[in-house]
Amino acid sequence: MMTLSDLEMEPHDTGRAWIEISRQAIRQNVEALRALLPPRCELMAVVKANAYGHGALPVARELNRLGVRAFGVATIAEAVELRKGGICGELLILGYTPPEDFPLLAAWDLTQSVISCEYAKLLNRFGGKINVHLCIDTGMHRCGERCENIRQIQSVFHMQHLRVTGLFSHLCTADTMKPEDQAYARAQGQAFWQTLHRLEADGCRCGKKHLLASYGVLNYPEFGGDYARIGIALYGLQSRQNDSPRHALPLRPVLSLKARVAMLKKLHAGEGAGYGLHDIASSERTIAVVTIGYADGLPRSLSNARGAVLIRGKRAPIVGLICMDQTLVDVTDIPETCCGDPVVLIGESGNQRITAYELSDLAHTITNELLSCMGSRLPRIVV
Ligand SMILES: *Cc1c(COP(=O)(O)O)cnc(C)c1O
Repeated sequence: MMTLSDLEMEPHDTGRAWIEISRQAIRQNVEALRALLPPRCELMAVVKANAYGHGALPVARELNRLGVRAFGVATIAEAVELRKGGICGELLILGYTPPEDFPLLAAWDLTQSVISCEYAKLLNRFGGKINVHLCIDTGMHRCGERCENIRQIQSVFHMQHLRVTGLFSHLCTADTMKPEDQAYARAQGQAFWQTLHRLEADGCRCGKKHLLASYGVLNYPEFGGDYARIGIALYGLQSRQNDSPRHALPLRPVLSLKARVAMLKKLHAGEGAGYGLHDIASSERTIAVVTIGYADGLPRSLSNARGAVLIRGKRAPIVGLICMDQTLVDVTDIPETCCGDPVVLIGESGNQRITAYELSDLAHTITNELLSCMGSRLPRIVV
């Protein structure tokens, strides 16, 4: 019979597919990054896109505990979620906020990026006092007012309803050591500090200055600033394993991705399995149905034995096409496999390991994309 307590019960977090984030790894990465930051430069944790898939609230709470007092997000909804979850410190929205949402900026004590001088006028017209960081385009040509438009930038400092508490820029070639990319990054750094000095010489108080993201810190910590906006490195990874930054840090991956064996099935020689019946078995095989699919963030491009999973410390290749919610793997060589066994998609099992690098390489992308596409239905648990 159903009871009230059955109705109050929640589905188990580790019953189907889930993400584990390691508290220890977050701490280690924060410590390693802080050691490399320029003097008086504070860590601004970039927790946009659900903290690169790790879970914005659990990650930000952990960081608050470690004394991190500044966070970068992409959208106002992300910022409000953090505030509602009790996150304290400066919350900077790095991207565009639509005018309809301007009232929320003051209500939740958020800082808005001024992405252009036009945008500053719009924000100023709203009327409430709003904290802003001015985004300066020093060569990336994405958000930001062009640094040569110094008069317009100055005008923002005189807008009645805006309080300029920061000035920032973003480097677009900081991740490689190619000579032309290095030259470009250095020119951007110079343009940024030059703009700042011209503004300050004219009496504009710029507040917190920042231009380094993860690769900026790994390659150009000497560029300085009051904040470093760190995303991918905080999660213990570079964008690509083979990048060799000038300052390699002892980073530790924070995220593991896990699922379960739902059932086992014998596949006879000559049979295929899954949509399209790819991967015809040449001999009798044992297949395990695993409770995770591309809707959970497992790239479909790992299908047909390009990717593998770990079960009981051994690798089991993926069979056929990955489905939205399920994946077939070949466990013929792991006869001890049982229903309900944990399956590791990213992380460690026994002395075997599958890294986010391996998956993102196979999927022809970077770890940033792989992680930020982790499915919203996966519970995130801190271990
Ligand atoms: C996403 C983002 C960052 C963080 O970048 P990482 O390379 O992941 O450290 C920093 N600054 C801005 C403006 C961003 O959009």
